[in-house]
Amino acid sequence: MSETTVFCARQVLTMDANMPQATHVAVRDGRILAVGDASCADPWGGGQLDTRFADAVIAPGFVEGHAHLMEGGLWRYTYVGFMDRLDPQGQRWPGVTRNEEVIARLREVATHEPTIGWGFDPIFISQARLNRDMLDQVSTERPVAVLFSSLHLMVCNTAALRSAGYLEAGDVEGLMRDAQGRPTGELREMAAMFPVLRRLGVDFRRLAAGPEVLRAYGASARRAGVTTATDLFSSLTVQDVDATLEVVQASDFPIRLVPAVGVVDGDPVAIARDMAQMRQRSTSKLRMGAVKLMTDGSIQGFSARLQWPGYLGGVPNGMWNTPPEVLRGLIAGFHASGTPMHIHVNGNEASAVTLEALAHAMAGPGPRDHRHTLQHGQLMDEAQFRRAAALGVGVNLFANHIYYFGDQHVAHTVGLERAQRMNACRSALEAGVNLAIHSDAPVTPLAPLFTAWCAVQRQTASGRVLGQAQAITPAQALRAITLGAAWSLNMDHEVGSIEVGKRADMVVLQDNPLTVPPSAIKDIAVRATVLGGQVFEAGA
Ligand SMILES: [Zn+2]
Repeated sequence: MSETTVFCARQVLTMDANMPQATHVAVRDGRILAVGDASCADPWGGGQLDTRFADAVIAPGFVEGHAHLMEGGLWRYTYVGFMDRLDPQGQRWPGVTRNEEVIARLREVATHEPTIGWGFDPIFISQARLNRDMLDQVSTERPVAVLFSSLHLMVCNTAALRSAGYLEAGDVEGLMRDAQGRPTGELREMAAMFPVLRRLGVDFRRLAAGPEVLRAYGASARRAGVTTATDLFSSLTVQDVDATLEVVQASDFPIRLVPAVGVVDGDPVAIARDMAQMRQRSTSKLRMGAVKLMTDGSIQGFSARLQWPGYLGGVPNGMWNTPPEVLRGLIAGFHASGTPMHIHVNGNEASAVTLEALAHAMAGPGPRDHRHTLQHGQLMDEAQFRRAAALGVGVNLFANHIYYFGDQHVAHTVGLERAQRMNACRSALEAGVNLAIHSDAPVTPLAPLFTAWCAVQRQTASGRVLGQAQAITPAQALRAITLGAAWSLNMDHEVGSIEVGKRADMVVLQDNPLTVPPSAIKDIAVRATVLGGQVFEAGA
């Protein structure tokens, strides 16, 4: 007979309504055998008691339903974001709050050729915008570039501009110039950024693939208590599956990985065939077969598609990454083939157009239990949630955004009324929509307890509470980062709660997120994770 381990804890939060709390979990063959008290495994012949977490709290392993493998790749460059951040090795990088600090930090590493910073966001810095002259203080000979946290903008020094021929260039869309026509160093969007990125050897696809990136991502996720994580705009192809499996299946790889392949155009029938082939090759640790679609851009970048009255100050409406008519064809094709879709929608025009397309697709053939999920859904209102509920469509709301960008949305993008109902978790739950919440790492840090804190507290970076009416309870938030996210990945029958028969995926916490003061949820230490019964201790 195989071995049974009985983990004991101060408390076990199961997320199973039939037995919400316990003190012991018995694990056999990577699955939950029994839940209850010290005798729970007795009917199964007992087991080996593991007491190392006796003073801690065990919960279902967290599920990060929207993040990107690039979180594992960007750390090869220098972090220059505004907020403190942990790297995959667990080292804390203090945030940089002034341009001088960005320059000083890049100078420290300026022996590298070239020098690249990431995570920067001028929206937080109340100084003149970082420009080429400032970055020339890092080096006048070697190229220096700073990627913005959105990855849609960057700023370069003179040497980097020169490398792409931008000092003598004529009109280049996205090459920003000052009033005298001199390039400021700032480049916007891919057409302008790509020539510099290529010369600096920065390849976004390579930053999101390969064994080292996978392992760094796994380490970051494990540190945050995550046992299942997505890569939600994956470039994985049928040909990459073997190499990915080799990394993911290794016993020291600490998470289940769920890539959703990014699609902006193409023939949905042919793509769905590839997805079906990849789904067949899925294992318990690598789950393939879903796609990710893009509709609009980002609200803080003024590139999301908003319904009337649009952006403050008459800023023109945003852009479509996939035009509505193309989107309708993709959605109909993927739905008919039973391919689960994660659909990026930031503005409320994007979510409206997408819900309409989904309703149209669902009038035709396709599965009833499809698990299509709207990602971000930042400006969805009650009416849109009711529509989503009627269609069986879930949402994965961007709770972290309230903290990072809430103040900016009030002042600069949509104003108070709409900002205070952004990422409306409460409305989603009241409409009966499956709710997940996410980090979108590397856009914001991968840390589900922080994400839960954001949904509960709705506190912005300046400390104001933005939209108390949309706050959810700690129990609802814990559900959103476990079972809620698991539903969106069609894995809620396997993970997301501690129940007999499910995979033994757990997180070991220093404290109970349901009983600490809600303001302290984000500060609870993650002591370990358990994946399929295997323990990964923090710091190991
Ligand atoms: Zn994303």
